[in-house]
Amino acid sequence: MGLWTVVLAVLVLAAVVLGPTAAQAHPSSFADVSTSADAHDAIEYLSKAGVVSGYADGSFKPATLLNRGQATKMLVKQKGLTVASTVVYAFSDVESVYGTYVEAAAAKGWIAGYPDGSFRTYDPLQRQHMAVIMVRCLGWEAQAQSLTQSQIDAGLKGIADVAQITPGARPYVALALSKGLFQGGADGRFSPTAAITRAQFALVAYRAELLGLAVVQGVRVGTDHPDKTRVVLDLSAEPGAISTDSENLGYLNVDVAGSVVEGGGIDKQVGSGEVAKLTVRQLTYRPQKVRVTLDLERFSRWEVTTLAPSDGKGYRVVIDIFKRAEGPPGEGPPLVALDPGHGGSDTGAVGVTGVFEKDINLAMALRVDVHLRAAGVRTLFTRSDDSTVTLKQRTDLANGAKASIFVSVHNNAAGSDSHGTETFYWGTADGDYSPEGRRLAEAIQRRLVDTLDSTDRGPAHTG
Ligand SMILES: [Zn+2]
Repeated sequence: MGLWTVVLAVLVLAAVVLGPTAAQAHPSSFADVSTSADAHDAIEYLSKAGVVSGYADGSFKPATLLNRGQATKMLVKQKGLTVASTVVYAFSDVESVYGTYVEAAAAKGWIAGYPDGSFRTYDPLQRQHMAVIMVRCLGWEAQAQSLTQSQIDAGLKGIADVAQITPGARPYVALALSKGLFQGGADGRFSPTAAITRAQFALVAYRAELLGLAVVQGVRVGTDHPDKTRVVLDLSAEPGAISTDSENLGYLNVDVAGSVVEGGGIDKQVGSGEVAKLTVRQLTYRPQKVRVTLDLERFSRWEVTTLAPSDGKGYRVVIDIFKRAEGPPGEGPPLVALDPGHGGSDTGAVGVTGVFEKDINLAMALRVDVHLRAAGVRTLFTRSDDSTVTLKQRTDLANGAKASIFVSVHNNAAGSDSHGTETFYWGTADGDYSPEGRRLAEAIQRRLVDTLDSTDRGPAHTG
């Protein structure tokens, strides 16, 4: 009965601490791009993807104007276009710094030069030209060209300086605005002939990047299911392949291909019986892959499914962590007291390499703990760091918590004649001993000798 009370108290507490979602701020990689800047996330993302880079002094120079050569190079990198090593220059004035990128983009039909055959690499890139290039490199040129005049007018509605947009660029600007690649300024102007800044370019290129990917829109946790904790990742589009990794049973990684999480990702305290907390992070930028990591508590199995839009909800990745069945009424899961021997000022034995026994004992106990918790067993440490704990404190702690088993971990180094593995169980010299303790000691001893391939000194009682 006492054990059940403890377990229920933990579950009730867990429901209360179910915390809010915390979006992580991406720390700034560049001294002159503050975390509150409009283009901050775009610049961070694109720099990690290798599309844009800063200057040697650690700055990004967000307000610096971008020239046509620089913009072309960035787009070629963003799209992962192969740059030929030998080139036949398409433009009369092409030069060595950006020439290969300009040629690669021209071969794709993204960029075109001027009627005189020049490209004018070092001219600033006008915002209207950026719109044309982005529409082409996203494969929307046919769509732009098929727009009717009334559709173009509708797309440009509300743009105060629409008359300044070159007639040939208008369908492209209209499409780019309607797709959300650009936003008109607060004054309602598009400023078509103004040069684009590095920060503005990053924003447009980032919006274009997200259009083709499954963007994480949020993560929801359901802890009211009777048999499981359910984690739902809401996505803007269909994700790519899902892979999972749970080699170490203390966590579960779910990797979602073709996916992006904005900013620095998401942290969420879950606090259910099955999941302690979760994080959502951009794992790789090329290819774009998001990793959801669940910190697992006590569970039986997990299941990951992808759902198509239904019931007013969009694409989702659903991760179910099923509860482990409790024992018969009146019994909870067993509580194992793990007792790493020595600690603090008491180093225990010292190995030939100078390693302290206290550190080996703790490392072993921490590893055992992961497996015990994954198997549904509760654990308690007499020490979980390098502190000095007396024998009485250790046994008081375990007895106070009514531990079912007390496992003391030692790695002894005695004389050369006493090498090998020993497992002790409670007993006295006159033959009084704990039969359960003896069975456990025998089982542990067999597994240890098998695993370590060491000399079997047999189980021995403590008396
Ligand atoms: Zn020892």
